Parts: sequence; C-alpha cells; structure tokens
Amino acid sequence: MAFKHRNRSFRKVLVKLASKVTTHYKKRNPAKAQCGGCGKELHGVPRARIVKMQNLPKTKKRPERPYGGVFCSKCMRETMIARAKAQS
Ligand SMILES: [Zn+2]
Repeated sequence: MAFKHRNRSFRKVLVKLASKVTTHYKKRNPAKAQCGGCGKELHGVPRARIVKMQNLPKTKKRPERPYGGVFCSKCMRETMIARAKAQS
C-alpha cells in the first residue's frame, strides 16, 4: 500500500485475510456504455477495464444483433426502418 494509491482515482477494496482486514486499492471501472442515438445506458455491455474486456469472448461484450453495443434496441429499430425506407 503506497501513498500514491490513496486518491480518488483508485477505489478502496476491503480484503478479509486470515487474521485481519486490509485495504487494497483498485483502478475504477470505466463509465457505462451509452446509446449512440439517444444516450441511454446500454444493457448487455460489461463495465470492465480494457485488459479484462480483451480476454472476454466477443459474444459477451455486446448484444448479438445489428448495431449491438452501439444503439439501444429502440434506436436500432428506427435506424433499420429508416434504412429500409431509403433503399426502396
Ligand atoms: Zn437509443
């Protein structure tokens, strides 16, 4: 435990050891993913640091549908309808 970790950039995690409770310092998680259309928080997108995200399978990083992890389902539907209308 170093003094450089005692600031708001790190979050405190109390860890129970066999004889005592110690404080560990961890980096904070990034903000929740937001919809590119309406800015609503996206579901099915984990809030984890990059190193952890790299080791996750792709199917666990975003919903498996068109624009999954980019648009919420409502904005995705609107975009798909708009694209279909523009083509015809
Ligand atoms: Zn949206």
